[in-house]
Amino acid sequence: MSEKKLSFPPFTNEPFTDFSKEENRREMLAALAHVKRELNRTYPLHIGGKEVYTGDWIISINPAHTGETIGKVSKAGLEQAEQAMQSALQVFESWKKTSVAERAALLVNAANLMRQRKHEFSARLVFESGKNWGEADADTAEAIDFLEYYAREMIRLDETNEHRPLVPVAGETNRLSYIPLGVGIVIPPWNFPLAICAGMSAAAVVAGNTIILKPASTTPVIAYKFYEVMVEAGIPADVIQYLPGSGSEIGDYLVGHPQTRFISFTGSKEVGLHINQLAAGQAPGQIWIKRLIAEMGGKDGIVVDETADLDAAADAIVASAFGFQGQKCSAGSRAIIVQDVYDELVDKITERTARLIVGLPEDNVPVGPVIDNSSYKRILDYIEKGKAEGKLLAGGGKAPGSGYFIEPTVFSDVAEDAVLMQEEIFGPVLAISKAKDWQDAIRIYNHTEFGLTGSYFSADEQRIGVALEHMHCGNLYINRKCTGALVGAHPFGGFNLSGTDSKAGGHDYLLLFTQAKLTSRKN
Ligand code: NAP
Ligand code: MG
Repeated sequence: MSEKKLSFPPFTNEPFTDFSKEENRREMLAALAHVKRELNRTYPLHIGGKEVYTGDWIISINPAHTGETIGKVSKAGLEQAEQAMQSALQVFESWKKTSVAERAALLVNAANLMRQRKHEFSARLVFESGKNWGEADADTAEAIDFLEYYAREMIRLDETNEHRPLVPVAGETNRLSYIPLGVGIVIPPWNFPLAICAGMSAAAVVAGNTIILKPASTTPVIAYKFYEVMVEAGIPADVIQYLPGSGSEIGDYLVGHPQTRFISFTGSKEVGLHINQLAAGQAPGQIWIKRLIAEMGGKDGIVVDETADLDAAADAIVASAFGFQGQKCSAGSRAIIVQDVYDELVDKITERTARLIVGLPEDNVPVGPVIDNSSYKRILDYIEKGKAEGKLLAGGGKAPGSGYFIEPTVFSDVAEDAVLMQEEIFGPVLAISKAKDWQDAIRIYNHTEFGLTGSYFSADEQRIGVALEHMHCGNLYINRKCTGALVGAHPFGGFNLSGTDSKAGGHDYLLLFTQAKLTSRKN
């Protein structure tokens, strides 16, 4: 109890860097130059704290310069996956006994190290994931936030009996303790390759679990750098097994493994549903129901009524649709506008979109490349479909460059049932639909199998009240963009096929990585 009284200053969000300041620009340019010199290195797997080279490689490339290799990362097969499981099981026996105070302090150490090298992390994101400076800086800031936030949250959870005492019973001492689950498989996506990777891993580890971290195959170097900083911060090197490999090969093996206790997944609906099914069974020797935390895709949208500030709405729609090339689960890929202001707002959106410059992330232009060739081809296919489903107002195809560049594309007059309004495209494509009135607009907004983020733009309090109640999504915003959730302020997770609504960055998140043990003792 006594050593639990470790106290940190209250949590505050890591500020974003103002790159209009010359000094910050200079530091970022220096970080980019530094990271550029480190491109094309090789990286090992880490199993049981030891480096492993398998001779098989995942090649990570720069999506803005497909000829440039970011790094070669050793690729795990089934043999290494089994070794990683055995190592994680073994170290769980000691890691679960470390105090909460110690685990939390190690996360804060990691946050401090990451903060010292903030621009270096961001520069890696620029090269490996194709984020511009601002997007990369926000990704790094969010990773720092997750480390700081979950450290404090674990302490709070551990002090439950003091903050939320159980009902007293004479002659008994009753306590509730949140203990870890066991070995978890952590499977992040490539689109927030630092923040989501760090958040999912840190939450599991601070709760006393050990993990096998299988990074996304397009962004394994960033994940390696995260692993490295955790070890440097003092987390024992074998608490996290860093295990890049094919999702369908080692992913399936580990998800189906009888000793896997939980799976923390963030990614597409298709893969999430597949994991859900595979995890549901009882493998021979398995003695628990595997816990699944699955955060998946979205078909998020912004609703605008005739009382709204149309310039603010246009700014928000364009920022939500095209920030990081529309490759956010929260991306506002739909705009639903009432007919009274439809033409006027569509013009404003089109003008703003046409002004967006496409180019190299390292030059910090607004729109960079999409992540890889299969995304590139898939998005271009959707754009061709869109030409049949709506009216093309901006973009409409490839943009020049030696990477996967696509023009920010806007279609208007898209029917609510169109593919463009229903399927997650995960690229710079915005579909606009016309609604009869504000109630019809809310109805169209809800007409999707997803339910992640949404926004409602209006000046009418009564309508805002209705929107707050009826727009069915995990993260609903009023008069602002639908991207950019902040740790602690906007706990994040979606409804319906957007996932299990885990609310990352919120007070409830660590409950998912723990189990509550009640002990009742007769005095
Ligand atoms: P993805 O293709 O589903 O991949 C996500 C992760 O799953 C990757 O690490 C991938 O590994 C792995 N994987 C693939 N097949 C697997 C299998 N059979 N078993 C276990 N793991 C497997 O998604 P993505 O393309 O990386 O990310 C984009 C998607 O993520 C979008 O749908 C987006 O909306 C969603 N997302 C959701 C949230 C949220 O909070 N709701 C946040 C961010 C992103 P490989 O790379 O090796 O295939
Ligand atoms: Mg993918």
